[in-house]
Amino acid sequence: MRDGVGGDVAETLPRTRHDEPLPAQADVAVVGGGAIGLCVAYELARHGRRVVVLEGQDWSTSTSSGNAGFIVPSHVIPVTTPGMVAQALKSLAGGRGPVTVRPSLKVAFVRWCAGFLRHCNDRSIQAAASALASLAESSASLYPRLLADEGIDCAFEPNGLLKIFGTARAFATARRDAEWEARFGVCNHVLGGDAAKQLEPSLREGVAGAVFYPNDAGLDPGLFLAGLAAALAKRGVLLASHTQVLAARVSAGTVESLATSRGNIRVDEVVLAAGARTPAVAALFGGQLPIQPAKGYSVTARRPRRGPSRRLLLGDEMVAVAPIGERLRLAGWFELGRFDDRLPANRLARIERSVRGRVHLDAVLEVEQRWAGFRPVTPDGVPIIGRAPALRNVTYAAGHAMLGITLAPATGRLVAQLVCGAQTDVDAAPFSPARFG
Ligand SMILES: Cc1cc2nc3c(=O)[nH]c(=O)nc-3n(C[C@H](O)[C@H](O)[C@H](O)COP(=O)(O)OP(=O)(O)OC[C@H]3O[C@@H](n4cnc5c(N)ncnc54)[C@H](O)[C@@H]3O)c2cc1C
Repeated sequence: MRDGVGGDVAETLPRTRHDEPLPAQADVAVVGGGAIGLCVAYELARHGRRVVVLEGQDWSTSTSSGNAGFIVPSHVIPVTTPGMVAQALKSLAGGRGPVTVRPSLKVAFVRWCAGFLRHCNDRSIQAAASALASLAESSASLYPRLLADEGIDCAFEPNGLLKIFGTARAFATARRDAEWEARFGVCNHVLGGDAAKQLEPSLREGVAGAVFYPNDAGLDPGLFLAGLAAALAKRGVLLASHTQVLAARVSAGTVESLATSRGNIRVDEVVLAAGARTPAVAALFGGQLPIQPAKGYSVTARRPRRGPSRRLLLGDEMVAVAPIGERLRLAGWFELGRFDDRLPANRLARIERSVRGRVHLDAVLEVEQRWAGFRPVTPDGVPIIGRAPALRNVTYAAGHAMLGITLAPATGRLVAQLVCGAQTDVDAAPFSPARFG
């Protein structure tokens, strides 16, 4: 069993290059080798750029590796909902729900919370939904092509997502949400409890209702990253793992070079795709990015004999249930505000208990991995993608919150188009870093 922050695919990854010296110069340096950084590097390489990916650890340790692997263009409702605020307040009052806030008096945290509250209104939520829908739709259409072109075998299954609700109240809200989502082009089918059980026979009695999203899909995120890394290596992209960016030399609004744990590298362009750590890297250039970490956990077991046959989302408990090839992964929790590597047994047990409450499972799961990762969350629920306001050659690609796997291919394409001065497939304006001043 492997515990900790990391994936289970290290053995299958192409050899990473932390034993070779860094080149003295890069056309484009991408900082961060999660799903976003690797997709950015892929698209830049397709545009003919010479790319080096600087990754502080290894591909298999990023937040992108151990998540549920849902590709959910249906998720157009951003995190900035009154429901989320209610859950956060409950947590502050001592509640033990799936959303936890770990408050801090740090200026960045307080500012972020104020920004979040400012965006909890209809106008902002609609603007966010429209932005997320455009990027997600683009990503959903890019995925099959990307996987086929590069021969990436990562248990991709385009067979939808079933979101289930245990209480009449939660189901009533879900019905309203489904109508709202449809206005943004999301295809969904509202189902009663019996119809949901027909679609997924492992559900227990007592499901109040469900919403089925036929256009959603899923994959094994670890294998996806491994496949991308192999595709990049074939295209001549240098994947420099264990190469932490520590400092930058900036002159007249241009980043000239990066100092890393393995030496310096001169750069023409820099893309920051360091997930929840992006603000710390941006600060090296004097940049400020409003992104907070929201920790989540997953438990991966050998696929049980008795269990779900398709991807489920437990709407009340916010837990993802992902049968992935020979494994079953359960993922959940949203712990806002701090980095730490702890894997509290009670949290992981609670995730499994939530699933057992809704789904028939073998009495004992053969657990192979317990994992935690950090979602990078912005105050308006929309990723930050675009040129850094005060720097000539820096582009941000971060803040994908719960949707990094979903949005990675389209983010990669958008960033490459921006860096290369090409026309963009999706309107870049809603993602601009300039919206935060
Ligand atoms: C429990 C859980 C379940 C999730 N389920 C889903 C899902 O089903 N579908 C979905 O779409 N999304 C899901 N997500 C969200 C998704 O995992 C994230 O949005 C995504 O991983 C963000 O990708 P990223 O590439 O931006 O960041 P990361 O994956 O965090 O990668 C950033 C990389 O930058 C590197 N880095 C940081 N600092 C430096 C530095 N100074 N120098 C060099 N490198 C550095 C890090 O080592 C890291 O590898 C889930 C998240 C969690 C926690």
